[in-house]
Amino acid sequence: MEAAMRITFIGGARTVTGAAYRVETTQAAVLVDCGLFQGPRALEERNRRMERYRPLDVDAVVLTHAHMDHAGLVPALVKAGYKGPIYCTPATRDLCEIMLLDSAHIQEMEAAWETRRNLRVGRKPVLPLYDQQDARKALSLFSQIPYGRRERVASGVHVRFQDAGHILGSASVELWADDGGRGWKLVFSGDIGRKNQPIIQDPQPIEEAQIVLVESTYGDRLHKSHEETLDEFLSVILEAVRERGKVVIPSFAVGRTQEVLYILHEFLRKGLIPDIPVYVDSPLAIAATEIFNRHPECFDGQARALLRRGDEPLRLPHLVLCRTTEESMAINQMEGPAIIIAASGMCNAGRIKHHLKHNLWRSNSHIVFIGYQAQGTVGRQIVDGARSVRILGEPVTVAAKVHTLGGFSAHADRDELLGWVRHLKTPGLKVFVVHGEERGALSLADALGGCGIPWVAVPRLLDSFELGEAVPSAAHPLTERHLPIDALMDVERRLRRLRKRLSKKGLPSEEATHTFTQRAHELQSSLEQMESVLQLRQGEDDLGGTGLSEVQDGS
Ligand SMILES: [Zn+2]
Repeated sequence: MEAAMRITFIGGARTVTGAAYRVETTQAAVLVDCGLFQGPRALEERNRRMERYRPLDVDAVVLTHAHMDHAGLVPALVKAGYKGPIYCTPATRDLCEIMLLDSAHIQEMEAAWETRRNLRVGRKPVLPLYDQQDARKALSLFSQIPYGRRERVASGVHVRFQDAGHILGSASVELWADDGGRGWKLVFSGDIGRKNQPIIQDPQPIEEAQIVLVESTYGDRLHKSHEETLDEFLSVILEAVRERGKVVIPSFAVGRTQEVLYILHEFLRKGLIPDIPVYVDSPLAIAATEIFNRHPECFDGQARALLRRGDEPLRLPHLVLCRTTEESMAINQMEGPAIIIAASGMCNAGRIKHHLKHNLWRSNSHIVFIGYQAQGTVGRQIVDGARSVRILGEPVTVAAKVHTLGGFSAHADRDELLGWVRHLKTPGLKVFVVHGEERGALSLADALGGCGIPWVAVPRLLDSFELGEAVPSAAHPLTERHLPIDALMDVERRLRRLRKRLSKKGLPSEEATHTFTQRAHELQSSLEQMESVLQLRQGEDDLGGTGLSEVQDGS
């Protein structure tokens, strides 16, 4: 019998979150990425289904980068019993240290808040997904492999990291697996960055693979050019300086904040803007910036040249780092023009709320959005042109000028993704399109087919394929280009019937309860996925084609 090599899509399939791909040979099982699911409740419930990851039956974990949708579930895996090594690049390890502890802190706070709410109505307390102790235990298992070095990670399995140009330390993973004498080479793209992104290197093309998993976050759209975005950003700052107003930038802590600092440094160096105060108001962003400064090996030629001249690209003459709440509050007492970079990126939590409260109503303030604003967030309301928004329990008039800069994305667009895949020259290449909402993934799959790639699949969550000669042709996605409204209605009907049957039965046997609950979960998950596709489409219509520049991973 032929040896069976298998790949299972636990997460990051037809969704942009929860990336986790299990590769099994007859000798070993390796998990590539172990990310948090974020978004609709049914999706987030998957974070608690650790049995799907088979933590006791994984020999090694390999991480592409530190974003939470790729690494954020690692402490839960460890809490569930995983004790093996976790491989990543040195910069990813350092970023994971601050991000996993921060994530654990958030999990603890949310669980405490939900517990208080539950106890008031006689319900059970809620346990955090994981706590800081779990995160520390996970961090003790981390093992670093620099870019370009091939290392054995499990019996018969070797990996090598190549720079993915997405955030500091981000990698595509080349994975060689020996399966009973038969050799396989798989490539996991991770999140692929854009060319000429500030600070970090460009994505490194890879030339050989039999099987590739490629991300598709922006599989259906093209970005504005970086130059256009820079021009727009510069004119906003100059206008604020003229009017003695503040520029408020809601920003994600890791990656985007440092990119903005680098651009401001460039503007200053070229004498394009006057030397006004710049505040970074987020402890996580400050910690991440320190890690950037510790990893010049990840910098591109331009950033290295600055360093050689003794010019540190993330340090500005009037940079103020606000760690404490008092320092944060003090910003609002300052007169005159200034740039304030604060978390969170979608304005739904954190210190940015105070800055919006103090600046939104002023006509000489500028609010600059550089990231994706999800539906239901304060950021989205402002982008959508709300005249007044509720912040910290009070209505605040929006008189400030609002700008959405589309070119800051840390993700390759459709053409860049196609270019990356076309570097793979192996005849008979098989492509799995992952890590994208359904529409982006299907659209990229279509485009790849159009480029002459003979075998392209868009797997669903929990799909599992044996990588023999005959990968099932049912994996081919190109017949499902349209949103299945009929299917949606069918699911709704089935859900209603299911509820009726459940309520009629009163208290069914334990086995039946289990089956029903499982089915209800599956149906709910399908429903929410379809709803999110609908929402995404609605969102694009609302944005009037300005494009979404960011995904929930905080990239
Ligand atoms: Zn990412």
